[in-house]
Amino acid sequence: MKRKNAKEVYRLADLQDWSKATQDVDPPIRLGVFGDPVAHSLSPQMQNAALKHCKIDMQYVRFQISPYELSEALKLIRDLKFVGANLTVPHKIAALAHLDDVDENAKRVGAVNAIKVDPPKDGFAGANSGKLRGFNTDGRGFSRAIREEFVVDLRDLRVMILGAGGAARAIALQCAKEHCERLVIANRTFDKAKQLTNELHNFFVGPKVLGPVPRLQAIPWEESVFRFQIANVDLIVNATPLGLNRGDPSPIPSRLLEPHLMIYDAIYSERRTPFVSAAVEAGARGANGLSMLLHQGALAFEIWFGREAPLDVMRAALL
Ligand code: NDP
Repeated sequence: MKRKNAKEVYRLADLQDWSKATQDVDPPIRLGVFGDPVAHSLSPQMQNAALKHCKIDMQYVRFQISPYELSEALKLIRDLKFVGANLTVPHKIAALAHLDDVDENAKRVGAVNAIKVDPPKDGFAGANSGKLRGFNTDGRGFSRAIREEFVVDLRDLRVMILGAGGAARAIALQCAKEHCERLVIANRTFDKAKQLTNELHNFFVGPKVLGPVPRLQAIPWEESVFRFQIANVDLIVNATPLGLNRGDPSPIPSRLLEPHLMIYDAIYSERRTPFVSAAVEAGARGANGLSMLLHQGALAFEIWFGREAPLDVMRAALL
């Protein structure tokens, strides 16, 4: 039999005629990432390296799926007996409405980045018989990334998060769950930062006092406010897309940064992000989001297969 390689990107039309679209593709495609755009996603190289290493006879591909195609695409991967999928922009929030079950953490974050297709107990009896379960591995992936990059645990840190979107919400909830010393949320739209701190309020009630600054605080996106906060935080996380495009400025200019800081940019790219460059210029430590990508992917692998992910193999595939 002549074997065919998988295509770079699949679409809804392929899922609709899956046996034709994947005729002779070997190993069979049973996992993928849904996004729009999706061509840039590094997940296939990382997950395929893990599958190969673990001798799991299947592969992971990219799916270019638009928002109005998401519902049907999810139904199809259930019918086609996929193992699961990852979701990236812009599907993480919208997917919640199309799943059979969402775990507590993902519900609280309000976004799903990993789906497991659960077969019914008596096996796949027919079409539509599986269940789609949603998870969010971004927060725990972030926590592991911080430990790996800076050899420190979130519970010992005063953290400032830039952004209040999906990634920021997952990171903020993780910081709260791990009882970080202090959490500050800065967002361009201040109300969203305020809303997020309101949701996390219960994690921060208690006897721990940190001098004159509150343990949990929403702040406006203003230079003078950043300047004041920087003396009272250890870790600053960029969870905005600022830095994705060439020519983007650093979310906080280097002249405001100080050497005691750890800077983590959730954006991953081969070149140094503007925020990491600003950190280096200021004599601070900096790392980009590749380690978070790795760990959120490893956690998804563990959800799909119930076994430890081969972290070193996955890391090597990303470099
Ligand atoms: P969302 O669209 O959900 O949120 C974007 C956030 O960024 C919002 O708070 C928004 O503020 C803010 N923002 C957008 N543009 C600007 C700007 N020009 N200036 C200041 N703030 C801005 O995106 P996500 O949370 O999903 O993703 C954020 C980043 O995190 C992306 O770059 C993504 O690649 C990265 N990421 C990395 C992961 C990893 O594994 N390394 C995993 C997930 C995400 P406002 O509310 O005012 O609109």
